Amino acid sequence: MKTKPKILLIYTGGTIGMIRDSETGSLRVFDFKNLLNKIPELEQLDCHIDTISFEEPIDSSNMNPNHWVKIIDIIESHYATFDGFVILHGSDTMSYTSSALSFMLENLAKPVIFTGSQLPIGDLRTDAKENLITAVELASLHKDGKPVITEVCLYFEYKLYRANRTTKINAENFEAFASSNYPELAESGVHLKINYPYLWKSSVPSPLKVHKTFNTNIALIKLFPGISEVFLKTTLNTPRLKGVILETFGAGNCMTETWFINLLKETILKGIHIINITQCIAGKVNMGQYETSSQLKEIGVISGKDMTTESAICKLMHLLSAEISHESFKTMYETSLRGELL
Ligand code: ASP
Repeated sequence: MKTKPKILLIYTGGTIGMIRDSETGSLRVFDFKNLLNKIPELEQLDCHIDTISFEEPIDSSNMNPNHWVKIIDIIESHYATFDGFVILHGSDTMSYTSSALSFMLENLAKPVIFTGSQLPIGDLRTDAKENLITAVELASLHKDGKPVITEVCLYFEYKLYRANRTTKINAENFEAFASSNYPELAESGVHLKINYPYLWKSSVPSPLKVHKTFNTNIALIKLFPGISEVFLKTTLNTPRLKGVILETFGAGNCMTETWFINLLKETILKGIHIINITQCIAGKVNMGQYETSSQLKEIGVISGKDMTTESAICKLMHLLSAEISHESFKTMYETSLRGELL
């Protein structure tokens, strides 16, 4: 007899499990058990569900790398006994946490699916039920005795995305996420439509390797016309700084003023990595396409290609914590580790 897949539901917090405080009107987290009581439909799914909750569920705006490690510890200690993992998480920083987890989990061979909601589960018009039920269904999918999904994903409003390709784009709509540079992995309608060619395919099966360290000595700088020299100088001289994500214009372009290029050059010579990613929602960095990006290439700026800001940040913190020589860092960063770039 076929055994039912075992899914572990990990509750970290977020709107999905919040209630409205009758006095102040603001949303606050509440007990996870209440949350499950609100979705009796879960019992009807063709899988076994176990649950684990953060002792103190949090609004995802309070997430940091220590919480990421807490989630990873739960996955690691249950990896052998469960077939899939569904993580309930606030939507605000879901793209960051799920991108980070994609780098933390090397050789992943089981589904890890993040979901949450824009309205609490108790609200009449909540999006929580569909998101949670379908996320569990997707995590349970098997073909020829093997899980269909073997990567970290994000499921929201009828769409399954590769997590490290997503960005939260809307604070109000149910369709809160976008993956502009990579197609959806699945769509939920009358049927679950899986986009097989785009799923992550692991090469030779190898044991799961978990990475738990991050170096947070980094900066994120979004360029704008008129950005001041003093601001940039101060930021780039931050003590212990090891890496910078530079959000540039269009296909990776920026101003060519001498003070600016010299400042970046000095920073790189000090051993600080500078990564070029675009401010655009879609498309990629192509240094050298315009004169306004040629110098960046010459001075050794790293290309973030078509990565999201969320992914670029997590990958930088992840790779900085590994022992990689300065020379190999650029190659590693520009190479796809978990399908986060082209
Ligand atoms: N502030 C909430 C959070 O990210 C919003 C949500 O859950 O959608 O935890």
